[in-house]
Amino acid sequence: MHEEGESQQIELLLVEEDDLAAKRIGEMLSGSRVATFALHRVTEVDQALYALQHEQFGAVLMDLGLHDAHTLDSLLRARFAAKSVPIVVLAYQDDEALALRAVKSGAAEFLIKGEVSATLLSRTLLHAIERHRMLQEVEQAKARESFLARNDPLTRLSNRYAFREELGEAMDVARENDRDLSLVFVDLDGFKAVNDNLGHAAGDELLVDVANRLRRWVGEEAIVARLGGDEFVFTVPASVPYADVIPWAEELRTHIEEVYHVAGLETWVGASLGIATAPRDAERPDELTRCADAAMYQAKSLGRGRVCTYTEHLRDMASERFELINGLREAIHGGDLALVYQPQIDVNDQRIVAFEALVRWLHPVRGMVPPSEFIPVAEEAGMVVPLGEWVLRKAATVLKEMAPPDVGMAVNVSSRQLSQRDFAETVQRTIRELDLEPSRLEIELTESACADRQVIRSLHALREIGVRIAIDDFGTGYSSFTLLKDIPAHVVKIDKSFVQRARAGSKDEVILGAIIQMVTALGLDVIAEGIETTEAMNLLYHRGCMRMQGYLFSKPEEARDALPLASRPDAPWRECLERLDDSAFLPRPPRD
Ligand code: C2E
Ligand code: MG
Ligand code: MG
Repeated sequence: MHEEGESQQIELLLVEEDDLAAKRIGEMLSGSRVATFALHRVTEVDQALYALQHEQFGAVLMDLGLHDAHTLDSLLRARFAAKSVPIVVLAYQDDEALALRAVKSGAAEFLIKGEVSATLLSRTLLHAIERHRMLQEVEQAKARESFLARNDPLTRLSNRYAFREELGEAMDVARENDRDLSLVFVDLDGFKAVNDNLGHAAGDELLVDVANRLRRWVGEEAIVARLGGDEFVFTVPASVPYADVIPWAEELRTHIEEVYHVAGLETWVGASLGIATAPRDAERPDELTRCADAAMYQAKSLGRGRVCTYTEHLRDMASERFELINGLREAIHGGDLALVYQPQIDVNDQRIVAFEALVRWLHPVRGMVPPSEFIPVAEEAGMVVPLGEWVLRKAATVLKEMAPPDVGMAVNVSSRQLSQRDFAETVQRTIRELDLEPSRLEIELTESACADRQVIRSLHALREIGVRIAIDDFGTGYSSFTLLKDIPAHVVKIDKSFVQRARAGSKDEVILGAIIQMVTALGLDVIAEGIETTEAMNLLYHRGCMRMQGYLFSKPEEARDALPLASRPDAPWRECLERLDDSAFLPRPPRD
């Protein structure tokens, strides 16, 4: 911008065939008080085009009058050659139509020859220049906006959206040329520490440096994008043969792991890389990205700082999962599920108070599949609700038909089941249909399942019906006593890992004792699972936990073996109770 009163120096390209006219124009412009025009005169359009390509001008003044019908085409060409220069045209009075067309074709202004005065000429040129400058600013702002829509502002690499599109195009090209296309997913190791220790500005600096290293490594042809945080992706250039992709990526990894100078300090980060290749691993962009991501995840889980490919192994895992889901679906409908039952013993009353029903999958090929392998899959695949309904009905039927009337049944449920609005109704229906005493049924859920509001509602509804509620695996999660205050539980079940860690005289034993005391003080029952040894039994007994469950007494067994344990006088669990140590309850000798 020029301050008022300040004289502007303008390089003006004059396209004028007529010497006399050129002279007149020169005279008129030399009298301007607001700008100094430095005139560069040419006589032909072609000369003008040449000049525009080789020199910088503030504006072009072009006489249309003497030219033929091709002038407009020339004008257009001139405009193309010098996009950043406004063009003002001069025309004869009877050529006004032509002048107008010139404006439509991109001229900034037109002037009629007979009407031109010195002031009008310089003012028109200056207006054209100023307007042109403003238009350019708008264009630059638009360009900036569209850059930001497709690029990461920090590293200037493509962003997630642009990447998806670019990858699609690159995959099309590779397919047309019958070539492989490898995609590499990079996640930095230890980047958070840089951010935390050196600050976000330093973290940003490092990311820019990583982006530059990647760009230099892969070259201008390849796609490089930042997907967010410290995650980058790029395609392997076609010049790298498939067989060399891994060593090539390994070399890049060591390059990323070289020292960084940020915030005036030396620092380092590691990198985990995952590679997937189209078409062998995937045929669509999203799928290929997912595969590379899975491979990167594999690199992370194998200890970071390495390159992994989306190998057959990974693919096998995915298809195994697929088979598992299908098999499980069939098992739920086809009767390949079974329940086993493990007794819960009250060591004080010397009797079995309940059984816990535990589900098994009798797989035609793999044999007995434990619930830890298929319950999470059932949850993800939305099958845990029908599975749970089957478990509930089966366990309740066994309870009704095979257990003595003073024995209960504990059934595990997943949070997915409890977050079904009609869960309590399903339970009530089962109880009614089997004519069961509701308090003989105990629903076991884990602490973490209580996060959801609907779960809490279901629990209240269950309690209303008279069903008992147990918090399973207590001691593995937050072990929150506030939670115990808020949820309507009857029983707390101390997790087996906790029980097994607690040796006599250890801190764990003290904590265990405190949990038992606190739970009892809240008016809840306490049960310990995973009792495998006489020591564990006695340790819990001395701390006041009377209900126990574990391999020491019995492993989970089929109904026909498990249920009779409650009434058989010679059942092995009774022998265990003979080893209960009552001496700890005797008064201790006074200390001196
Ligand atoms: P959980 O409810 O905590 O069940 C106790 C697990 O510990 C059972 O494993 C049981 O066999 C095992 N166990 C019992 N006594 C001992 C012992 O003395 N030592 C050791 N080391 N382990 C013992 P299981 O049957 O493999 O079940 C694992 C988990 O699967 C269960 O943990 C429960 O959370 C879940 N689960 C089992 N059945 C069902 C079901 O029908 N529905 C749902 N949603 N989950 C179930
Ligand atoms: Mg359980
Ligand atoms: Mg448990």
